[in-house]
Amino acid sequence: MTEKLALVGIGKIARDQHIPAIHGNPDWSLEAAVSRHAAVDGVDHFATLDELLQNRPDITTVSLAIPPQPRFEYAAKALKAGKHVMLEKPPGQSLAECYALEALAKEQGVTIFATWHSRYADCVPDLKDWLSSRTIKRLKISWKEDVRRWHPGQEWIWEPGGMGVFDPGINALSILTEVLPYRVHLSQAILEFPENRATPIAAKLTFVDPGGADMSADFDWRHEGPQTWDIEVETDRGSARMSLGGERLEIDGVLAKEGANHEYANLYARMAALLKAGESDMDLSPMIHVCDAFSLGRRIATDPFHF
Ligand code: NAP
Repeated sequence: MTEKLALVGIGKIARDQHIPAIHGNPDWSLEAAVSRHAAVDGVDHFATLDELLQNRPDITTVSLAIPPQPRFEYAAKALKAGKHVMLEKPPGQSLAECYALEALAKEQGVTIFATWHSRYADCVPDLKDWLSSRTIKRLKISWKEDVRRWHPGQEWIWEPGGMGVFDPGINALSILTEVLPYRVHLSQAILEFPENRATPIAAKLTFVDPGGADMSADFDWRHEGPQTWDIEVETDRGSARMSLGGERLEIDGVLAKEGANHEYANLYARMAALLKAGESDMDLSPMIHVCDAFSLGRRIATDPFHF
């Protein structure tokens, strides 16, 4: 059966990824857009979620492509109206918000899906499989990009709850928590905050690995050279380097796989499968690392940031 879906927040990611992915999947029919500013061709438009809920009771699923700060209020309202809900990453601006949404979905008997798009990159299952039979000695994440290029004018990323450099960094953590055969936890974080902003522009993280591996992550938003979304791993039986955020995988220096970007197509396929099974998927492990980084982090004030 085709599920009727409303997309909330018609911004960068809605246009770049959500709308094409929904149109490309026959399990979904995009019926409405909720937007304060924009319209989507060929679908109903509502300025508020309340108007959508009043006028289109036939819509079963609400997908939220808004920033994390307003997400709880929108998600709670949709769940209380009995809708299935799909959350862009990060699923909220705090862990407690996410737990509350998970409980509400359970109470309402509907599906909630905390999406982690980077986990659905083509090479992530291959790296996970490769690591499952090896002992990790060293793992290094380098997520370095130019914030002006990828987030032009987005003020919300610099506001409390916007997470700063963890907005992309949490994608790396979502891959880490997916591919590792066990849990790790953070022991140290160094966070650089522009003196005029509420969220960090750079972060260095150190993890405790139960097997003693040397594990770290380096996130930097001031990077103007080649953009880097890499995970390098050395094991007892060879090394791997996953780059382009999970689209490319080299094993022992030799190209093993070069994928394409199917992340959002995979997310909507997963949401359809969850609805059919009557299940939810609310893995919060990437959020736990981010919250621990804010809790443990040594804060360093750095140069002011202006777009
Ligand atoms: P964006 O373009 O800055 O904002 C998305 C839309 O959210 C806005 O166009 C606006 O839609 C709505 N919005 C903004 N502030 C709001 C508020 N206070 N209350 C209600 N609605 C608000 O952001 P984005 O880049 O698409 O990111 C949205 C989410 O997707 C974030 O959580 C981000 O981490 C995630 N994401 C982004 C990317 C990316 O490449 N940009 C990639 C993956 C995931 P209307 O004007 O239509 O109301």
